[in-house]
Amino acid sequence: MFPRCCVVCGGPAKALCARCGDELHRLGEPRCERCGAPTAWPVERCRECSGRRIAFATARAAVAYDDAARLFVAAWKERGLRKLAEVAAELVCEVVPRPRSYTLTFVPADPNRRLDRGHNPAERLALEIGARWELPVAPLLARSHGVAPQRGLPLAERRRNVRGVFEATGNAPGTLVLVDDVYTTGATVSAAATSLRKAGARRVEVVTFARAVR
Ligand SMILES: [Zn+2]
Ligand SMILES: [Zn+2]
Repeated sequence: MFPRCCVVCGGPAKALCARCGDELHRLGEPRCERCGAPTAWPVERCRECSGRRIAFATARAAVAYDDAARLFVAAWKERGLRKLAEVAAELVCEVVPRPRSYTLTFVPADPNRRLDRGHNPAERLALEIGARWELPVAPLLARSHGVAPQRGLPLAERRRNVRGVFEATGNAPGTLVLVDDVYTTGATVSAAATSLRKAGARRVEVVTFARAVR
C-alpha cells in the first residue's frame, strides 16, 4: 500500500505530493563524470573523487540527499514503506540516462538489519528500475558478515568498515549497473564493485536514488 500522506510534508497525497516531488533537487548536468558530484561545469574528476581509488567507473544519482530526500528515505527504509521504491525508481529514470551496461545488480542488505525491516530497499529499487529500463536484475553479491552502521563515520573508517564485506556469489558479467539507495561517500558501492570486479566485471556503473552533496 502507498502511504496516504506525503512522506515529506505530511499533506494529503499518495506517498509524495506534487510540490515536494518537484522540489526534490535533481542531480542533472553538469556533474563529475566519475563520481557524479554536481559541479559548475563538466569535469572528469572532481575535488571529491580525485586521488581516490574507486572501484566503480561512474556513479549517478537522481536527487541530492537533502532534508526532503532524507525524510523520503527514512520513510522508505526505516518505516518500511516498500512502495516508495516505485517513486524512487521513477525519479532515477527521469534523471539518470539509461546506462550502456546490460545487467543490474544491487547492494545486498545487512542480514541483521534485513530482519528488522524485512526488505532490502536496494534490491527493490533495482527491480523497479530494471522494469522501467527493461534490463534484467541479477543478485550477484552476498555479505560475508554484518557491519557496524556507517552513519557518522569519517571516510577512512567507512572504507575500513566495509572492506571485504561483500562476496560475489558467482561470475559477474563484463559490464554491470550496481544499484543502491543512497550514495554517501561511495565507500559501500566501491567495496561492492571491488568484489564484482574480482568476479569478472570490467566496468561497474553505480546508480543510486539519492547522493550526499558537499
Ligand atoms: Zn509534500
Ligand atoms: Zn568526482
